[in-house]
Amino acid sequence: MIIQNDKVVTMHYHLTNADGEVLDSSRESEPLTYLHGAGNIVPGLERALTSLDVGATTTVQLSPSEAYGEYNADMIQHVPRKEFDGIDGLEVGMQLQARDPNGQTFVVFITELRDDVVVVDANHPLAGVHLTFDIEIVDVRDATAEELSHGHVHGPGGHHD
Ligand code: ZN
Repeated sequence: MIIQNDKVVTMHYHLTNADGEVLDSSRESEPLTYLHGAGNIVPGLERALTSLDVGATTTVQLSPSEAYGEYNADMIQHVPRKEFDGIDGLEVGMQLQARDPNGQTFVVFITELRDDVVVVDANHPLAGVHLTFDIEIVDVRDATAEELSHGHVHGPGGHHD
């Protein structure tokens, strides 16, 4: 079965940056299962996998704009330390939920701790990074009606609602 919209794809992936450092890999764990055409994976990768068959292997190179976006220096903020009162064990690299003025939540990472200021970065950790995915397609099946209505995969490797 060929990969196209509304198919459930199971794949192994091995992700490296431009320096060849391994950022993530499914090889030591379970393969990734996702719903094709639902925006569950980055746009450039989804496009590159369209029309592949079970057993196919491919290498996909993506610029930041096709993956997690360009790095935006405006998304670094200096927040007064007193706003973090009540949060124990602040440390560099820690991930926190923040809320914008409209009440939307988003994730920030602490990049620096100063005496009176905490520097946080709301960029995705892979923003600005050129990515290379080595992919092996393990399985392709039809999505169920329920998966299509939810926009994600259920069962092994997926959501359990
Ligand atoms: Zn669901």
